[in-house]
Amino acid sequence: ADKRRDVIVIGAGLSGLAAAKLLHEQGLDVVVLEARDRVGGRTYTKHNDVINYVDVGGAYVGPTQNLLLRMADEFGVKTYLTNEVEDLVIYRKGSSRRFKGSFPPMGGFLAHLDLLQVFRVVDEMGSEIPEAAPWDAPHAEEWDNMTVQEFLNKYAWTAAVKRFATGFVNLNVTSEPYECSLLWFLWYVRQCGGTHRIFSTSNGGQERKFVGGSQQISQHIARKLGKDRVLLSKPICQIKQEQSTVKVIDIHGNKYQASYVISAVPLPLQSKITFDPPLPTLRNQMIQRVPMGSVIKTFTYYSKPFWREQGYCGSAMIDDDDSIINYTLDDVKPEGGKPALMSFVLADKAKKLCNLTAEDRKQRISEMYSKVFKTEKALHPIHYEEHNWLAEQWSGGCYTVMMPPGFLTKFGKEMRRPFDRIHFAGTETATAWSGYMDGAIQAGERSAREILHRLGKISENQIWITEPEHKTVQPRPFETTFWERNSPSVGGFLTFVGLVSAVSSMGVGVYLYTKHSQ
Ligand code: FAD
Repeated sequence: ADKRRDVIVIGAGLSGLAAAKLLHEQGLDVVVLEARDRVGGRTYTKHNDVINYVDVGGAYVGPTQNLLLRMADEFGVKTYLTNEVEDLVIYRKGSSRRFKGSFPPMGGFLAHLDLLQVFRVVDEMGSEIPEAAPWDAPHAEEWDNMTVQEFLNKYAWTAAVKRFATGFVNLNVTSEPYECSLLWFLWYVRQCGGTHRIFSTSNGGQERKFVGGSQQISQHIARKLGKDRVLLSKPICQIKQEQSTVKVIDIHGNKYQASYVISAVPLPLQSKITFDPPLPTLRNQMIQRVPMGSVIKTFTYYSKPFWREQGYCGSAMIDDDDSIINYTLDDVKPEGGKPALMSFVLADKAKKLCNLTAEDRKQRISEMYSKVFKTEKALHPIHYEEHNWLAEQWSGGCYTVMMPPGFLTKFGKEMRRPFDRIHFAGTETATAWSGYMDGAIQAGERSAREILHRLGKISENQIWITEPEHKTVQPRPFETTFWERNSPSVGGFLTFVGLVSAVSSMGVGVYLYTKHSQ
């Protein structure tokens, strides 16, 4: 058996590595055991001669993601802005319309009202949900028993907004409105700072990317820890807890032991581990009830950024059943190299289309680009990269878990509850930007501090700490007009119109009656 350590961390994603880094800095003897032959987990920067590098997993970073920005600074990893200089475009019913700002025009006054109302309600309902305890929200049970689809059926009046909102769900949580809990979705958007922060490029979650790729951060942490503290290709299959020791075994039969374990493995993948003694009742059920989302990330490379020549920045929202993608962003590196458009194949489309060949997907995507950006130039890509996260054995899917109705209220509290000497990290257990790289770091550092507390090194109120705001990447408030804050719902508007016409026809009736009776 390996020498006895203070802490074993399972999983060398950002979360596990952030936990190990903090413990190592506090003088503890720690080892990270990773199933893959690389660190970074859901962040993965591919390299080759044509493209130099590309983030086929987690990539974007923006204001309020202060832990990730701090970690990048520490290792000198710089960020650059995602291009949003020229126009964005919404493609709907075969035609493209330019726009600026986070949300596209809906086409038609009623749909415009509807969009304002639906997204305002999402933010208003979200503001009632405590980030660290969504199960304590005043309407937790009611909302957790509903799907997002039921919410949309109730609040969205127009087909255009129902379709747009479905795309919003697909993009942000890589799942479909019919399968996810309303409580979970509202909480998810809220803990990212609301509908505008989560969805926006400028001033939002997609504002920036890392020069050189996001996986570098994990690689830097691993280098700092040293080779004998980060062991690769060690899938863990068993955890045995004895009196004061936890024994961990990998699939090759190697044995490790420590006083504590941090599991930084995505929730559903914990089912691949045998626990002795067995997991507590609710945790045992919990990990069976929370699947990972579905996404294939694609990059189509061109000799020139033709979209910019047409006055488009590269951000497109695509509302078309026949399109395999529904969201794109410009992917041009600041240091030059081949320009690309990034797009996602999401949720049910990813499940339906994951068995196509990459060549088929490339073909369909470039044809779609030619329609959206209205040029034949899109039909001639020079290179294509993609990554199918549905097939990843050690992720199970991406970006994060999808919580179905009933999950949060029945099992939510179990996610962070330690099981004797085992503590739990992973982005899924975060209370801000959960599902993201920033949340992964929050969860990792919090789990490390839980152990420092158990060792008597810090007090209980030092486990959760607020990260100071980053010095240069700062959030700006989203300006809304009086109209945007107060516009009526479509229902309210139609009732008003109905009342006005009823009152005026009554007026006409009274006038005619009085005239005739004179
Ligand atoms: P992981 O990275 O999944 O780490 C868990 C580790 O545990 C993995 O390395 C895994 O191999 C290992 N493991 C699993 N089982 C075992 C076992 N039995 N034994 C040992 N090791 C095991 N986030 C953003 O912030 N911005 C984005 O733009 C963004 N976009 C995304 C796009 C895509 C396509 C994907 C895939 C993800 C995206 N994310 C994004 C999400 C982000 O990448 C993740 O939230 C974050 O990286 C999760 O980190 P983690 O450490 O919690 O989990």
